[in-house]
Amino acid sequence: MSSPITRGRLNRLTGQFHEPGREAMYRRDIAPRVRRESCLALCVAALVFGMFAISDYHYVGMGTPLTLLLAMRLLVVASCLVLALMIGRWGDYSRKAWLHALPLWILATGIILIVPLRPESLSTQVTAVAMATMAFYLLIPNLLPIVALASLYLSLGFLASAVMVADIPAVVALRIALLLVMANAVGFFALLRLEKLQRKQYALLQEERSQNQQMAEEIAHRKSLEAQLRRVAERDVLTGLDSRVHFMTRAQDLLQRSQFDKSPFSLMMIDVDHFKAINDTWGHSQGDRVLATIADTCKRSLRPQDVIGRFGGEEFIVALPDTHLEDARMVAERLQRKVAELPVREDMPDHRLTVTIGIAGGHEEATDLPSLIQSADQALYAGKHGGRNRVVMSDEGRAKA
Ligand code: GH3
Ligand code: MG
Ligand code: MG
Repeated sequence: MSSPITRGRLNRLTGQFHEPGREAMYRRDIAPRVRRESCLALCVAALVFGMFAISDYHYVGMGTPLTLLLAMRLLVVASCLVLALMIGRWGDYSRKAWLHALPLWILATGIILIVPLRPESLSTQVTAVAMATMAFYLLIPNLLPIVALASLYLSLGFLASAVMVADIPAVVALRIALLLVMANAVGFFALLRLEKLQRKQYALLQEERSQNQQMAEEIAHRKSLEAQLRRVAERDVLTGLDSRVHFMTRAQDLLQRSQFDKSPFSLMMIDVDHFKAINDTWGHSQGDRVLATIADTCKRSLRPQDVIGRFGGEEFIVALPDTHLEDARMVAERLQRKVAELPVREDMPDHRLTVTIGIAGGHEEATDLPSLIQSADQALYAGKHGGRNRVVMSDEGRAKA
């Protein structure tokens, strides 16, 4: 299915884009290729034009006409080569169209001048002019109006000099005119078609590029949304700690690695004592602040390799890889002290902020995470029953210690 770009925004006569901006962009885009191809085509054209000096000698022999012909050919060849060089270097197809037109006019003038200098070879020259016309249209890259004008000049100039110099009868002149009209028409429509096709192809490519760009932007946007969602799912908003689900994933990995390495692993459950009373007395937002402060204290007193999460309400959970139960107890006691030392007296006069911590450990055993959590939770429960503000090891841990 054709899109609006490819369907009808091209000039019917020139094959160019109606919008000047788009046309300029297209010309800029193809400029390097046109420069290369023009340079090569002009060198070949100059070579071919120069080589016809052989047929000059064949027709006129030695003498002044040959000298004049050679001088003219030399001038045309030299001009074409210089222009080829200039186009190769500075030939901006979009801004210096005249530079691309110049060699055509020079070549056309050279071909026209052959008539008065070599009038007896007119019949061969007609074929050469028809060939040159096709070459103008199809072999030397140029814009259609530029080629059409130069070809018209070649045809009219050749016809005029043939009539004036070679003194041909009207019928022959008409035959030559018809042949040149044919050559121009074929060349014109072939180039028109080519110009249109190339621009349609360019438009399609642009469309595809912009769609790809849009798609890339969409993908980037989705990726950033996914990352945002993942962050939201992995983090607890109030405390910034791992969410329960994310903690479970990370702790599971740590436990597995510990079991593989046969290294110790401990787990801590921390619960704020009488937290409901804080909410009830000083309000929910004060409760939130206390939770965030305790979370921060925990984070700062643990090692980077420890993983801490908010297990629920006012309960936190910590996985301590490479840590014996006895060491975990020391860590827990330090934490307990730090919480007790938190400066909350101003906000909550007469309230002692404390935590109860239950710990459990797995060592070289095929303990799974839920069982460890259960053990730590039981120890915590025992701590609550024992009067709170304490660190309690699980039964198995105590038995080993
Ligand atoms: P205990 O010493 O036995 O642990 O008593 P407690 O009051 O700390 O425990 P309880 O389970 O009775 O109360 C916990 C309270 O924590 C109840 C709940 O409203 C509150 N809570 C849970 N999540 C949040 C929260 O995100 N913010 C605040 N401010 N309060 C919360
Ligand atoms: Mg609780
Ligand atoms: Mg509590």
